[in-house]
Amino acid sequence: MKDSAQVVIIGGGIVGCSTAYHLTKMGWQDVVVLEKGELTSGSTWHAAGLVGQLRSERNITRMLQYSVRLYDHLEAETGLKTGWKKSGCLHLASTKERMYELKKGATTARSFGLEMNIITPQEAYDLCPIIALDDIIGAAYMPTDGEADPSGITQALAQGARNRGAKIYRNNLVTGFEFDKNRVTAVKTQEGDIKCEILVNCTGMWGYQVGKILGISAPVVPFMHQYAITNPIKDLPPDLPTIRDKDNLIYYKEEVGGLVMGGYERNGIPWRIDGVPNEFNSNLLDSDFDHFLQLAEPAMKRTPCLETAGIRELVNGPEGFTPDGDAIMGPAPERDNVFVAVGFNAFGIAAGGGAGRMMAEWIIEGEPSLDIWPLDIRRFGPYHKSRKYNVERTRELYGKHYTIHWPSGEHVSARGVRRSPLYFPLKEKGAVYGAKYGWERPNWFAPSGVDPKDELTFEIPNWFEYVAAEHKNARENVVLIDQSSFCKFEVRGPGALTFLNRLCANQIDKPVGKVVYTQMCNERGTIECDLTIARLAENRFFLVVGTAFGLRASWWIKNHLPSDGSVSIKEMTSAYAVINVIGPKSRDLLKKLTNADISNKGFPFGTCKAFTLEYAPIMSFRVTYVGELGYELYIPIEFAVHVYENLWAAGNDLDIKNAGYRAISSMHLEKGYADWGSELTPEYTPFDADLGFCVALDKDDFIGREALTKIKTEGPKVKLCSFTINADQPVMMQSSAPIVYRDEVLGVATSCGYGHTVKKNICYGYLPAGREYAVDGFEIESYREIYPAKLEPSRALYDPERSKMII
Ligand SMILES: Cc1cc2nc3c(=O)[nH]c(=O)nc-3n(C[C@H](O)[C@H](O)[C@H](O)COP(=O)(O)OP(=O)(O)OC[C@H]3O[C@@H](n4cnc5c(N)ncnc54)[C@H](O)[C@@H]3O)c2cc1C
Repeated sequence: MKDSAQVVIIGGGIVGCSTAYHLTKMGWQDVVVLEKGELTSGSTWHAAGLVGQLRSERNITRMLQYSVRLYDHLEAETGLKTGWKKSGCLHLASTKERMYELKKGATTARSFGLEMNIITPQEAYDLCPIIALDDIIGAAYMPTDGEADPSGITQALAQGARNRGAKIYRNNLVTGFEFDKNRVTAVKTQEGDIKCEILVNCTGMWGYQVGKILGISAPVVPFMHQYAITNPIKDLPPDLPTIRDKDNLIYYKEEVGGLVMGGYERNGIPWRIDGVPNEFNSNLLDSDFDHFLQLAEPAMKRTPCLETAGIRELVNGPEGFTPDGDAIMGPAPERDNVFVAVGFNAFGIAAGGGAGRMMAEWIIEGEPSLDIWPLDIRRFGPYHKSRKYNVERTRELYGKHYTIHWPSGEHVSARGVRRSPLYFPLKEKGAVYGAKYGWERPNWFAPSGVDPKDELTFEIPNWFEYVAAEHKNARENVVLIDQSSFCKFEVRGPGALTFLNRLCANQIDKPVGKVVYTQMCNERGTIECDLTIARLAENRFFLVVGTAFGLRASWWIKNHLPSDGSVSIKEMTSAYAVINVIGPKSRDLLKKLTNADISNKGFPFGTCKAFTLEYAPIMSFRVTYVGELGYELYIPIEFAVHVYENLWAAGNDLDIKNAGYRAISSMHLEKGYADWGSELTPEYTPFDADLGFCVALDKDDFIGREALTKIKTEGPKVKLCSFTINADQPVMMQSSAPIVYRDEVLGVATSCGYGHTVKKNICYGYLPAGREYAVDGFEIESYREIYPAKLEPSRALYDPERSKMII
């Protein structure tokens, strides 16, 4: 074995080999793969081999679309058989809700030119004459899906990598690592040590335990997964598409004249959650016929030929699943030179090609060419360190693999993990909670007599009118919103100002007491973080980031910290509860509880101020997320209930109400504000997102300045726009809806919702810049319905003059 390499990849499954293939393809040759058994001997060798592209997230589907393009030519390139067959995939629907889901998929696929056709039951039968149509109400067909020999594909990827210089060492267990501070400097193996500059953990269901040795958290949970292989079936058409009958939780593919049939039962069985034996190479678990019966019974009804076919083998192979059903990829935040690509939730063959490319781009270029935040390892929070949490939530997600993905659907397991002090008081007042980043957050409030529960639907939901009432109250009177889940950090030290000014696009050198809205950009000028920063003292700054992005933001900040100790960062999330007091009567309300001067003059917009409210010392920010007069109150956690009770009592004669996150979304959309993760991502610059006012090009230097200067001079390539839908009634819009202008798909909706004040459906989306557009002539497609849409002249539909918030 070599004694050093630029990149060492652990794991010779499809993902490790694909990462090596793509690293070498992008020109890095000094790449080593270490595999404890033979190549593919983990989960890869026993995969069923279906390659489906449709996922609920648009960019993940695009990643899988790349896999298909790669598999199209891999055999010709390497000379090794891959078994790749573009057989197409038939998706069956026996419920109205499943049809919605298929239509959503077909609509999303259209936004990036992937063909997916909605077809009739008869057309489905013509494509696949072995199915019983009994309860089928519709179907979809994806002609470019296919099936492959998982081992063949992996061997071909490995060969491609070897051809370009990679070295692959088999039967060599990785046993440990050497570290220098946060860096892995060498990998210890049974065959000796190998130094590395970058380490990639591609160990599939071993990802959790290898992560533990590395000191990183990778919440992979192994689950048993079974499929049956039948004996040859007489007259089975050889050109059958793969089939997904998700209402029955099952899938099929043709294999040497018989069928492979498997599925995702609701009560999946975890396996070896504390560690998979290292000797488990090319092994299977015992078949569990009793457990499989729940899938086999509906399968025999759907494909009656199974009744007599006889099962040749019931394959029971474990695979790594995760607490949110998506793979875990990207740079491990706990280390400086470790990347991860594990936990592929039984779609690793479909994902393998694309995932390897994303990893290579991440390693070489600093980020993948697609924004794949739903797969990013930095989406996990501190609660994901709990094995109990991960096992319980993964069990639920395994069971939901094929169930409907409801709009606004919430999970039920492992709830109540992070709760604000206001959790119980608000629950008593009808709060209906949703979970984000482990936090329970009030989504809406059920008035007395109304069942405090979301009813799942693709149509106008049960909570619509109550959210409308909260929204109206915020615009006309005053509401309280518990936003304690904000991630908060304090950055301090003699070098803090210089450091933040180098990281942020906006000018941070403002007088003490100022609050600045800013983005942190990368060298390309695209957005890495979106946050507000308050200057509390000369060398002390308070940073506020959206609930789910704290780890990502702090990773970016810590990665750039100077090494001389002149700046430190500390997370303050748990120290402060946040109550947002919003509405034209918010000042009247606060005046009842404090003597501080909170007038527009004494406490202007864009500043922060410390004062007491009744007995509580608080810090308040005069900022708004919804376009009204408002005060964000940062309250030491033990004072939060006291403050809430007093606000509520004092608001009695001001028509005070509680409001939740769904009212925020509606108000936020009307104001034209953009969100991190939807509009603000590493794909876009602040200029694209109409946030040029946050870019201080007159500053000496900051990360991304050069790129942003060029963009400002040449003009951005895209611009964020607001659209309204021409419809008499509110309609439910899907995510990633294509935006069509004169029959050409020009963009995709990044956020959609209903503005209860402007009484319109609103969508945001990026359009190519530098073109003239008529205001009308747009269409937005959602669930296969086409809605005429208007391009709004202003992003803000509500109060574009900002007269409501700066008073
Ligand atoms: C029954 C079943 C059916 C499936 N069907 C499909 C399907 O139809 N379509 C689809 O897309 N996906 C399917 N999958 C999922 C697919 O098999 C996996 O997602 C994929 O193989 C994961 O690949 P990987 O490279 O991440 O992991 P693996 O293939 O498990 O590779 C990880 C490798 O790391 C090695 N390793 C671990 N620890 C160490 C160490 N300490 N030192 C050295 N090496 C180490 C292991 O030996 C292993 O070879 C199925 C899975 C199962 C179980």
